Amino acid sequence: MSTLLEVSGVSVSFDGFKAINNLSFQIAERELRAVIGPNGAGKTTFMDIITGKTRPDEGRVIYGDKGASLLKLSESRIAQAGIGRKFQRPTVFEDQSVRDNLMIALKKKRGPFAVLAFRPSAEDHARVREIAGEIGLNTALARKAGELSHGQKQWLEIGMLLVQEPKLLLVDEPAAGMTPAERQQTTDILREAARTRAVVVVEHDMEFVRRLDCKVTVLHEGSVLAEGSLDHVTQNEKVIEVYLGR
Ligand code: ADP
Repeated sequence: MSTLLEVSGVSVSFDGFKAINNLSFQIAERELRAVIGPNGAGKTTFMDIITGKTRPDEGRVIYGDKGASLLKLSESRIAQAGIGRKFQRPTVFEDQSVRDNLMIALKKKRGPFAVLAFRPSAEDHARVREIAGEIGLNTALARKAGELSHGQKQWLEIGMLLVQEPKLLLVDEPAAGMTPAERQQTTDILREAARTRAVVVVEHDMEFVRRLDCKVTVLHEGSVLAEGSLDHVTQNEKVIEVYLGR
């Protein structure tokens, strides 16, 4: 599979402190990847660099089949180019239905001028139903988002990103605060999502990462400490020392 995103030799300092230190990372199209690491390892800053929220002091971030640099693009242009990000706290519209939340996200993708005149087509309705199925909410389309469980709200927000057809989805600690059953379903949703686009999951919960059953990147002090299967990285002595053995 071809490379979708290539980060090479990226560094960023805050007040002289190197939060990201010569970090290199690649993800292929339709790859599922977990990024783990202790608090302060640089996971959030790394995601901020990919989405254009933080500019690196050095290094390259190359994206897409044309090998375009993301470094000069604004956050909104990067989002338009197909990089979606889900933060930890769900920010769905509580008083709107699941269907309307998904429709709002679809409308947003059409851009500011389409918003006023937006009349969903049969295709749009079909797309919303399809995504609702992907996130396990196909029987909840008419329910108000405010009535959903915490886990269901998280899935709805993932759906709101999926409806915008990202090529790369970044998901920050999706399982936080979920019940065991919701966690299980979240792994299924993310694995399914990665069949048609690349997904990077930042996660602390090792059981959750195990169930994702994908390549793992371990960050430490702003660099990649180890990379490979979960079994491979958890046998790495440096990883045991800095992360698992704490
Ligand atoms: P993680 O998400 O893995 O916990 P972060 O990316 O949030 O790690 O942080 C990496 C390091 O950079 C930490 O030591 C953090 O204190 C520092 N850091 C992050 N953002 C800033 C900032 N805006 N100003 C100063 N220091 C920061």
